[in-house]
Amino acid sequence: MANIIERIKSKIASLAAEACYGCSVDHPSQLHHDWCVMASDDDILRTFFTEAHHHILIEELKNMNKEKKALKRAHTMVIASAQHQVYEFKKSRTAELGILRVDHHNRILRLGVITEDDIKQ
Ligand SMILES: [Zn+2]
Repeated sequence: MANIIERIKSKIASLAAEACYGCSVDHPSQLHHDWCVMASDDDILRTFFTEAHHHILIEELKNMNKEKKALKRAHTMVIASAQHQVYEFKKSRTAELGILRVDHHNRILRLGVITEDDIKQ
Protein backbone atom coordinates (compact mmCIF):
# COMPACT_ATOMS: atom_id res chain seq x y z
CA MET A 1 0.00 0.00 0.00
CA ALA A 2 1.34 3.42 -1.00
CA ASN A 3 2.30 5.75 1.81
CA ILE A 4 -0.28 8.08 3.25
CA ILE A 5 1.03 11.26 1.55
CA GLU A 6 0.92 9.56 -1.87
CA ARG A 7 -2.58 8.34 -1.18
CA ILE A 8 -3.77 11.81 -0.16
CA LYS A 9 -2.15 13.31 -3.30
CA SER A 10 -3.80 10.70 -5.49
CA LYS A 11 -7.17 11.28 -3.81
CA ILE A 12 -6.80 15.06 -4.34
CA ALA A 13 -6.16 14.40 -8.06
CA SER A 14 -9.21 12.18 -8.38
CA LEU A 15 -11.43 14.66 -6.50
CA ALA A 16 -10.20 17.44 -8.82
CA ALA A 17 -10.94 15.29 -11.87
CA GLU A 18 -14.42 14.48 -10.53
CA ALA A 19 -15.10 18.19 -9.99
CA CYS A 20 -13.70 19.16 -13.40
CA TYR A 21 -16.31 20.24 -15.93
CA GLY A 22 -14.10 19.36 -18.93
CA CYS A 23 -13.52 15.83 -17.60
CA SER A 24 -17.22 15.29 -16.88
CA VAL A 25 -18.21 16.12 -20.49
CA ASP A 26 -14.90 14.89 -21.99
CA HIS A 27 -14.28 18.34 -23.48
CA PRO A 28 -11.47 18.51 -26.08
CA SER A 29 -10.39 22.05 -25.11
CA GLN A 30 -8.01 22.35 -22.14
CA LEU A 31 -9.65 25.68 -21.29
CA HIS A 32 -12.75 23.83 -20.15
CA HIS A 33 -10.83 21.66 -17.75
CA ASP A 34 -11.23 24.11 -14.90
CA TRP A 35 -9.81 21.88 -12.16
CA CYS A 36 -7.50 19.32 -13.70
CA VAL A 37 -5.67 21.72 -16.09
CA MET A 38 -6.49 25.37 -15.40
CA ALA A 39 -6.43 25.50 -11.59
CA SER A 40 -3.18 26.15 -9.73
CA ASP A 41 -1.74 23.54 -7.38
CA ASP A 42 -2.47 25.91 -4.49
CA ASP A 43 -6.13 26.23 -5.45
CA ILE A 44 -6.46 22.47 -5.89
CA LEU A 45 -4.81 21.84 -2.53
CA ARG A 46 -6.90 24.50 -0.76
CA THR A 47 -10.13 23.11 -2.27
CA PHE A 48 -9.66 19.35 -2.02
CA PHE A 49 -7.11 18.69 0.71
CA THR A 50 -9.57 18.46 3.62
CA GLU A 51 -11.88 16.02 1.86
CA ALA A 52 -8.99 13.88 0.56
CA HIS A 53 -7.32 13.84 3.97
CA HIS A 54 -10.59 12.88 5.64
CA HIS A 55 -11.20 10.11 3.09
CA ILE A 56 -7.75 8.56 3.63
CA LEU A 57 -8.08 8.77 7.42
CA ILE A 58 -11.40 6.90 7.28
CA GLU A 59 -9.73 4.26 5.06
CA GLU A 60 -6.91 3.94 7.59
CA LEU A 61 -9.33 3.55 10.49
CA LYS A 62 -11.22 0.83 8.60
CA ASN A 63 -7.94 -1.01 7.92
CA MET A 64 -6.96 -0.78 11.58
CA ASN A 65 -10.34 -2.15 12.57
CA LYS A 66 -9.96 -5.07 10.14
CA GLU A 67 -6.49 -5.84 11.53
CA LYS A 68 -7.86 -5.70 15.06
CA LYS A 69 -10.65 -8.13 14.17
CA ALA A 70 -8.20 -10.50 12.43
CA LEU A 71 -5.96 -10.46 15.52
CA LYS A 72 -8.94 -11.20 17.77
CA ARG A 73 -9.95 -14.12 15.55
CA ALA A 74 -6.40 -15.53 15.55
CA HIS A 75 -6.25 -15.18 19.33
CA THR A 76 -9.56 -17.01 19.77
CA MET A 77 -8.35 -19.82 17.50
CA VAL A 78 -5.10 -20.23 19.45
CA ILE A 79 -7.00 -20.41 22.76
CA ALA A 80 -9.50 -22.92 21.33
CA SER A 81 -6.69 -25.07 19.96
CA ALA A 82 -4.85 -25.03 23.30
CA GLN A 83 -8.04 -25.96 25.17
CA HIS A 84 -8.65 -28.79 22.74
CA GLN A 85 -5.13 -30.14 23.22
CA VAL A 86 -5.52 -30.03 27.01
CA TYR A 87 -8.84 -31.85 26.66
CA GLU A 88 -7.30 -34.54 24.40
CA PHE A 89 -4.38 -34.96 26.79
CA LYS A 90 -6.70 -35.39 29.79
CA LYS A 91 -8.84 -37.85 27.84
CA SER A 92 -5.87 -39.99 26.86
CA ARG A 93 -4.48 -39.87 30.42
CA THR A 94 -7.86 -40.95 31.81
CA ALA A 95 -7.95 -43.83 29.32
CA GLU A 96 -4.37 -44.85 30.19
CA LEU A 97 -5.11 -44.75 33.90
CA GLY A 98 -8.24 -46.84 33.31
CA ILE A 99 -6.22 -49.49 31.49
CA LEU A 100 -3.54 -49.45 34.22
CA ARG A 101 -6.18 -49.83 36.91
CA VAL A 102 -7.81 -52.83 35.20
CA ASP A 103 -4.40 -54.34 34.53
CA HIS A 104 -3.36 -53.89 38.16
CA HIS A 105 -6.66 -55.33 39.34
CA ASN A 106 -6.23 -58.41 37.10
CA ARG A 107 -2.67 -58.99 38.28
CA ILE A 108 -3.70 -58.94 41.91
CA LEU A 109 -6.46 -61.43 41.12
CA ARG A 110 -4.04 -63.64 39.19
CA LEU A 111 -1.60 -63.64 42.08
CA GLY A 112 -4.43 -64.76 44.30
CA VAL A 113 -3.32 -62.27 46.89
CA ILE A 114 -6.84 -61.07 47.34
CA THR A 115 -10.15 -62.23 45.96
CA GLU A 116 -12.69 -60.34 43.88
CA ASP A 117 -14.81 -60.07 47.05
CA ASP A 118 -11.98 -58.32 48.92
CA ILE A 119 -11.80 -55.64 46.26
CA LYS A 120 -15.56 -55.08 46.22
CA GLN A 121 -15.65 -54.39 49.94
ZN1 LIG B 1 -10.49 17.90 -16.57
